[in-house]
Amino acid sequence: MSHKPETQVLHAGYRADPATGAVAVPIYQTTSYQFRDTDHASALFSLSELGNIYTRIMNPTTDVLEKRVAALEGGVAALAVASGQAASAFAIQNLAKAGDNIVSSTDLYGGTWNLFANTLKDQGIEVRFVDPKDPQAFVRASDARTRAWYAETLPNPKLEVFPIREVADLGRPLGIPLIVDNTAAPLLARPFDHGAAVIVYSSTKYLGGHGTSIGGLIVDSGTFDWAAHPARQPALNTPDPSYHGAVWVEAVKPIGPVAYIIKARTTLLRDLGAAISPFNAFLTLQGIETLPLRIERHSSNAAKVAEWLSKRPEVSKVIYPGLQTGPARERADTTLRGGYGGLVGFELAAGRDAGRRFIDALQLFYHVANIGDARSLAIHPASTTHSQLTPADQARTGVTEGYVRLSIGIEHIDDILADLDQALAAAGQARVAAE
Ligand code: PLP
Repeated sequence: MSHKPETQVLHAGYRADPATGAVAVPIYQTTSYQFRDTDHASALFSLSELGNIYTRIMNPTTDVLEKRVAALEGGVAALAVASGQAASAFAIQNLAKAGDNIVSSTDLYGGTWNLFANTLKDQGIEVRFVDPKDPQAFVRASDARTRAWYAETLPNPKLEVFPIREVADLGRPLGIPLIVDNTAAPLLARPFDHGAAVIVYSSTKYLGGHGTSIGGLIVDSGTFDWAAHPARQPALNTPDPSYHGAVWVEAVKPIGPVAYIIKARTTLLRDLGAAISPFNAFLTLQGIETLPLRIERHSSNAAKVAEWLSKRPEVSKVIYPGLQTGPARERADTTLRGGYGGLVGFELAAGRDAGRRFIDALQLFYHVANIGDARSLAIHPASTTHSQLTPADQARTGVTEGYVRLSIGIEHIDDILADLDQALAAAGQARVAAE
């Protein structure tokens, strides 16, 4: 039976523990699993039977998390990993090796930018950055060794929704999958409905929501025809020496269209070892149970904050999808359902120092490098999350000196606005005193 998201977050992928009947998903805090006999052990290792081998590669608690998020996104399978960073890295390394390239939107989380511009480059994987406003730029930047395109659904700081449909449709005939980071818009956006092939998440943010657990996920849509493009996608179409010559699209055929995700699990997770702990998988599941309620409240609170800020004389600009006009707003309205998310950016007319004073004066908002917590959060990206980027690269990703990013929580709106009000006043007063 296919359920609605509000039901899936509580039920998908699990119905009482087979061993104990426990209704809550148990934390299987174990490293390894007893094989029934030697035939069973070799069947598991040869993938002729699926089952638990070792928690670096799979775990029953983590398995529920993977099934639940795959169901929520309408995908066929998912892989949970230790962080959102590991998810982005694996999503690409699963297709590209030294000498290959990918094309990425410039509008990225600063950590992803660093991974792409430096670490993947050091590994021989070139990342070509293009302006997401021009979908054809992805085609122009690609060549025979382009293995994937990459973007974020709702990238901050610009908060301009990515044209998933246009770009995915350009890539499919070329055999190039679109990988979409949906971290900032779970439930609001369903990238597979718009043609994305793979979704990645930092579950550290809205999926968990409680701010207790770092984690990440890769979700496979199962709709990308890897076998139709053997030259474009050699990693899935040629014998893999690391798994006794398996050709992934052939080897997994009896299981389903899951070549991409099985390869990520059985090679990258096995070899690089960025496994999520069963405890963090459990905590992430706890968070997901309330995701629909939280997302609704994040979105309605953020809409009120954006509206309120836009009327304040101290604020020169508010960045929020619901206040955009033109093509950006059209994309937001065709991609996001039920709200514009919990992120709001703004610039103070008095510039960088006023921005810093504002953040120092906040009493309810936490000043942290995170988004998507149930609590309200604030940060100055130019001096923190995006500080390792060159000024030119900061500008390309939309970070200006005076930009303040707010991640609006689920507290009472009156308390959120009161804190913003007193911090704006404090930022202004300090300036008057200094003059
Ligand atoms: N993607 C986005 C959009 C993020 O905001 C973040 C973290 O801030 C990441 C990926 C990386 O996730 P993690 O911190 O879980 O490694």
